[in-house]
Amino acid sequence: MPSVISHVAVAVAAGIAFAPRDVPDHFWSLSIVCSIIPDADVIGFSFGIPYDHLFGHRGFFHSPFFGLLMGIFLVGVFFRGVGIFSRQWFFYFIFFFLLSASHGILDAFTSGGLGIALLSPFDSKRYFFPWTPIMVSPIGIKGFFSKWGLVVIKSELLWVWLPSFLMVVVSRIIRVLAVRH
Ligand SMILES: [Zn+2]
Repeated sequence: MPSVISHVAVAVAAGIAFAPRDVPDHFWSLSIVCSIIPDADVIGFSFGIPYDHLFGHRGFFHSPFFGLLMGIFLVGVFFRGVGIFSRQWFFYFIFFFLLSASHGILDAFTSGGLGIALLSPFDSKRYFFPWTPIMVSPIGIKGFFSKWGLVVIKSELLWVWLPSFLMVVVSRIIRVLAVRH
């Protein structure tokens, strides 16, 4: 995984870039949950679930299909006041879906560990993209305070934080231009 904080950065940047101004406060906490929840699958290691298992780390919970379920679940439970299939409903659903899916997709750009089960549960094969510029992050805090940690931070700043920042800047420019016209 890119470190948890980088997944959160993507969530916050995507919210600033795409969310309407009047979103409720819990939109932000749910966005952060979406971006990091796939890594809760590391708990499986303590229960003896092997890395390459369907429910192992980077397995089903890192798939876009799981993201789809998250989108449906979150909009169904936390946005009950929003008319089903309304414009707002679709925004929340697609936003949470893509944000949850972004986690596994980002992980597929990392340089180590086992691949990501991007097509789970239909195909349990683990995938990486052909280009993996993001240095894989150590699992756990201890590994972070090392030379490896520093290299990870550098590569995440360049390949996760910078594109996230640019996404916010571009969306701001488009919004300003849209208001003027
Ligand atoms: Zn992950």
